[in-house]
Amino acid sequence: MSSHVLIAGAGPVGLVSALTLATAGIAVTVFERNTTAPEDLRASTFHPPTLDMLARFGLTEELVSQGLVARYTQQRDRKEGLVAEFDMALLEGETKHPFRLQCEQWKLNKLLIDRIAKFPHAKIMLGAELQTVSQDDSHVEVTVKTPDGIETFSGDYLIGADGAWSAVRQSLGIEFEGFTYPERFLVVSTDFEFAEHFPKLSYVNYVSDPQEWCVLLRVPTLWRVLFPTRPEESDEEVMTDESIQARLQNLLPKGSPYPTVHRTLYKVHQRVAKEFRRGRVILAGDAAHINNPLGGMGMNGGVQDAFNLSDKLVEILVSGASPALLDRYERQRRAVAIEYINANTARNKKTIEERDPEARRKTQDELRAIAADPAAAKDYLRKTSMIDALERAESIT
Ligand SMILES: Cc1cc2nc3c(=O)[nH]c(=O)nc-3n(C[C@H](O)[C@H](O)[C@H](O)COP(=O)(O)OP(=O)(O)OC[C@H]3O[C@@H](n4cnc5c(N)ncnc54)[C@H](O)[C@@H]3O)c2cc1C
Repeated sequence: MSSHVLIAGAGPVGLVSALTLATAGIAVTVFERNTTAPEDLRASTFHPPTLDMLARFGLTEELVSQGLVARYTQQRDRKEGLVAEFDMALLEGETKHPFRLQCEQWKLNKLLIDRIAKFPHAKIMLGAELQTVSQDDSHVEVTVKTPDGIETFSGDYLIGADGAWSAVRQSLGIEFEGFTYPERFLVVSTDFEFAEHFPKLSYVNYVSDPQEWCVLLRVPTLWRVLFPTRPEESDEEVMTDESIQARLQNLLPKGSPYPTVHRTLYKVHQRVAKEFRRGRVILAGDAAHINNPLGGMGMNGGVQDAFNLSDKLVEILVSGASPALLDRYERQRRAVAIEYINANTARNKKTIEERDPEARRKTQDELRAIAADPAAAKDYLRKTSMIDALERAESIT
């Protein structure tokens, strides 16, 4: 075995890449800054094409057994309740998994780590922070801060899957074009059963409101509620018990405090890297594109990058294909990041927070009409489930 791929970051994107490459017999070393695999609470929605891809490794069945199958998604209005419900079963024939899976992203990471550990030629180094990157025509070299000091590693290629603040991207000086929203998003989880109080609630609910919209997402043991914050509130103010209880009580007055299990505040960005590939270094996932979580497209898009990229690396390193194939990766996945992931999530935010009553009414009427027409609803679901995005990528040569 002579080929060796270095991977920065043991998030879902780095780990899917590592498993795909290791399965093809390629040596991989993953550098992860954290000393343990954290229970990352960010993503909770897996879209059908991602489940189709993960099924290659038998991971989908395992995730399904640890998550909730969401057949329906809903668009709601905070005052009026249900606006439109979409039945994912309309996607039958388009995907082997015509549903959303509600399951925490750390469960995928854990399954991936267990699978990767079975390959003697795959190594995950914890407490290993990538610092610098250099390359020439024949190899790429990185310096990594480990508990034993600074070490140097060399490989054929480097995948930068080290998240939004990617040291790989920064080391190469690649611009991260876009913007950061002035408000942050607060996610609170609670074991309070909202479904007993909101009629016909599904597992995935986007709730619009001109004052304070929210998203209500079910995972097996908890409800996660995502709220926007006001730009003028400090992080400390947002995170007080008083302010968190006020937001929850405003959503559903309950007369006594809500039990809360987690509370996390996130900065939110819409950014795409100007380049996804420079020579032997390729960016994927949040390191390459980052977006607001409305629509659940960040991890899904990143995992789809990982499959696209690592399959191409296998063709290059195992079957002798031209490295120019990596330019196709950039063309395909950068187009999807701009045209689908960024565009749709930005539109979702604009729709859910719309303040103009006329525009709100128009959007809600459109959603009702789409939901009432199975052909239109199927088109809508193809777009929101990222099936269209994958077809667009395939069409790019
Ligand atoms: C509130 C919220 C909800 C979300 N919900 C969804 C959802 O439902 N569906 C969805 O698809 N997406 C969702 N997302 C987005 C999703 O969480 C991310 O897109 C996803 O985690 C990206 O995966 P990644 O592997 O690219 O990066 P990450 O998961 O960020 O992993 C990067 C890894 O690299 C490590 N690292 C960083 N720097 C270094 C370094 N220098 N050296 C070594 N290691 C390093 C980090 O410690 C981390 O483990 C959500 C995001 C938020 C904030």
